[in-house]
Amino acid sequence: MLFKDYADLMFKLESVSKRYDKTKLIAEVFKNLDDEDVKILPLALQGNFFPRYITLDIGVSSKLVLKAISKTYNSSVEKIEKLWKEKGDLGLVAQSLSKKEKQMSLFSKSLTLKEVFNALQKFPEITGEKSVDKKLTIIIGFLSRAKDLEVKYLVRLLIGDLRAGIGEGILRDSLILSFIIKEWEHRETDELLIPKDLSEKVQLAFDILNDESEIALILKYHPEDFEKFIKIKIFRPIKLMLAQRVKNVQESFSTVGKPAMFEYKYDGFRVQIHKNNDEIKLFTRKLEDVTKQFPDVLPYLKKNIKAKKIILDSEFIGYDPETKKALPFQKISQRIKRKYDIIKLSELLPVKPKIFDIILLEDKELLNTHFKERRKLLEENVIVEENKIELSNALLTDNLEEAQQFYNKSLEEGNEGLMAKNLEGIYKPGSRVGYMVKIKPILDTLDLVILGGEYGEGKRSNWISSFIVGVRSGDEFLTIGKVGSGLKEKEEEGLTFKQLTEMLKPLIIEEKGKEVKVKPKIVVEVAMEEIQKSESYSSGFALRFPRIIKLRDDKSIDETTTLEEIKTIYKLQRHRNE
Ligand code: AMP
Repeated sequence: MLFKDYADLMFKLESVSKRYDKTKLIAEVFKNLDDEDVKILPLALQGNFFPRYITLDIGVSSKLVLKAISKTYNSSVEKIEKLWKEKGDLGLVAQSLSKKEKQMSLFSKSLTLKEVFNALQKFPEITGEKSVDKKLTIIIGFLSRAKDLEVKYLVRLLIGDLRAGIGEGILRDSLILSFIIKEWEHRETDELLIPKDLSEKVQLAFDILNDESEIALILKYHPEDFEKFIKIKIFRPIKLMLAQRVKNVQESFSTVGKPAMFEYKYDGFRVQIHKNNDEIKLFTRKLEDVTKQFPDVLPYLKKNIKAKKIILDSEFIGYDPETKKALPFQKISQRIKRKYDIIKLSELLPVKPKIFDIILLEDKELLNTHFKERRKLLEENVIVEENKIELSNALLTDNLEEAQQFYNKSLEEGNEGLMAKNLEGIYKPGSRVGYMVKIKPILDTLDLVILGGEYGEGKRSNWISSFIVGVRSGDEFLTIGKVGSGLKEKEEEGLTFKQLTEMLKPLIIEEKGKEVKVKPKIVVEVAMEEIQKSESYSSGFALRFPRIIKLRDDKSIDETTTLEEIKTIYKLQRHRNE
């Protein structure tokens, strides 16, 4: 595929707004690609360079791209920055600069999508002193061969701001149209008409393999029996099952049925444990490999798990090494990020896994096995050793009072609340299907993504001091409020303005005066008093007295609170007030 055809496709996608039109445009293109492009296009459409399960970064900052543009088109960085601020789109700026330099690219060979991707996918391997220069040379090489729209989309791709709104959902549907429901072209309709069970099956493939390139190829060659090729792989993280929220213990029974399994809801971080013989790998819910962070836990996982090959779902919780009492997530959050002195830190802030589910046992996938049976298999396969490796505290009951007491006990012991699980529930990766629900006393904390912000005044003028936060609605994010409180000035007190600003700076995609727009990436937990209807934000809602509680760097942007959930909470709070 020529890079020009990719740029044309992105341009067309941007000019249509209906999901159906976007899906058709993409499906049409997939039909005529060779295998290598079938693997690359799913990534290129989403602005990714690697399949989801690979958490590598090409390490290209907007600053580097600015420099490349400046060198290619003989224009100063200051001038380009100024134009960027005016136009709000670095892609457009580069495109207009390139038009003035027409003659240089006239005779060069056309860029292909493959060569751009093959080169960029190697960027993580470029390390050492000269790495930035090497990357710069490659980018300049591409820019000087790119023309018109190619420049715009190359730059956008490089700074991670594609703006075409292609998420996993549209990609999934276009692959289905292209490879499975081939006769769709002849239909005179404005709807996709993809059977629900088919789109669920393909979605499951995404949630298990987390590799859109591999899935595209499987669908191309095995449209009829693709499911046979979707297998859980050891050491390949899957998306974990998510929990719905209910307002109290009573409601949990009506959602998950009676009797139900209640478990303590621990305040730690979710870890999927993959073990094959003596080799162990640990992954977060964002699919990142965090094995290196837990040298203290690995020996017990090796020693106390009976099965040879197993995938488990767990919450890692911190505890005080003296009193053995559970510590809140905030205290141990450094355990996930620390790059040095990991062993020392693990002595100061030990963690232990509270294992609560089993996904694979030897060669048997347990996704369709009922929870009751899975819990039994879990108990058979893990040898509990106090404070080293434990199972979640669980209570099987159909009695409301008993469940309520268990809930109070969990809270007294410093946990977040309870989980209630449906005994017949299957394990649905990546879904909030209601086979497990969470009950927490504070109903009103939301996981929101930061979409922008504003620099402060006076002594805060170097920091972003208020943040525009948003919720997810399908593939896009809608704003729901502005939050400035909750952050601290000093690091000892918690998350600071400075820390959050530094995290956001590389993500800035637009800057006007004091206001910035950032690429959605950072998730924060926000507490608030109430949700109100509002015209001021694109979600149609606003938050009363919002404050940032903590960074949720364990959550990806796919896991933020959705507009649907906001609507549910809005209704719940109305009941509460009535
Ligand atoms: P939330 O993060 O508020 O969406 O709540 C769901 C999270 O609770 C899960 O993703 C787990 O990380 C965590 N959790 C704590 N204890 C349990 C448990 N016993 N079973 C399932 N999830 C748990």
